[in-house]
Amino acid sequence: MAGVIGDPVGHSLSPAIHNAGFVASGLDWAFVAFPVRVGGAAAAVSGMRALGIRGLSVTMPHKAAVIDAVDRLTPAAAALGAVNCIFRDPVDDEVLVGDNTDGPGFLGGLRADFGLEPAGARCVVLGAGGAARAVVLALAGAGAESIEVVNRSPGPAQATVALAGSVGSVSAADAVAGADLVVNATPLGMGTDPRLPCDPTLLGPGQVVAELIYHPAETPLMAAARGRGARTANGLSMLVCQAAAAFERWTGHPAPIETMASSAAAALPA
Ligand code: NAP
Repeated sequence: MAGVIGDPVGHSLSPAIHNAGFVASGLDWAFVAFPVRVGGAAAAVSGMRALGIRGLSVTMPHKAAVIDAVDRLTPAAAALGAVNCIFRDPVDDEVLVGDNTDGPGFLGGLRADFGLEPAGARCVVLGAGGAARAVVLALAGAGAESIEVVNRSPGPAQATVALAGSVGSVSAADAVAGADLVVNATPLGMGTDPRLPCDPTLLGPGQVVAELIYHPAETPLMAAARGRGARTANGLSMLVCQAAAAFERWTGHPAPIETMASSAAAALPA
């Protein structure tokens, strides 16, 4: 059994994605959404130990709070100060490991949507929150040539750039003009929000615009960038690929990614 803890979790696509994955893999597992209020993360992890739950996804507001409740962290979770996946150590079942699969999920999404490996790419990341931090760490690890972080507030921008090491810098929004890869890691454009995170007239052919938002399927940024000749994709592949990474850590089985992707798409609100 596996599950997700967070508040709210009623909207989570994870039960649909993972339960479809378990069925496709012939695993007699179930995935449950557990609403856990702020302050309840440590008790929830104790419950995971006591009940023999094999894995947990962790979402807002618990990604930092579970750090003290697990037995060890992967390097990515330690660097990010955020856990989105807890799994049992394959060598010692009693040891709970806190991981962060957003970075591998993002890189998997780039591969799936664009066939893109970011080694040598000039990258601009819009935003400096939890998702942007995971993206920046992943891009740096994948060998990006440069990673410019653009953010409304300077403090988080500096902290995020630090994850990129020598290839990172803080920039203004017009940096998108010179980028091979532009990533929107702000919520601007989500739902019915018509706002754009950068000036799309600076975008054009030869560029890849990766959106982390997956609802709507095409954000105002994607529509504008596509209209100017850039290649675009939303964040659904990242969501599915980070879930696939968790699935493999929990079960030890290869994730049936196509089944998981179609289940995610079918579970999205209209
Ligand atoms: P977060 O931690 O709250 O960070 C939000 C970031 O956006 C911050 O840098 C914030 O800037 C910036 N921002 C917020 N409102 C803004 C505004 N009005 N104008 C300019 N900048 C603004 O959120 P997060 O968890 O990183 O999530 C960011 C986005 O990624 C969301 O759309 C989320 O749904 C998506 N996401 C997708 C996946 C996936 O699997 N596809 C995974 C995780 C997140 P300040 O620092 O100035 O506040």
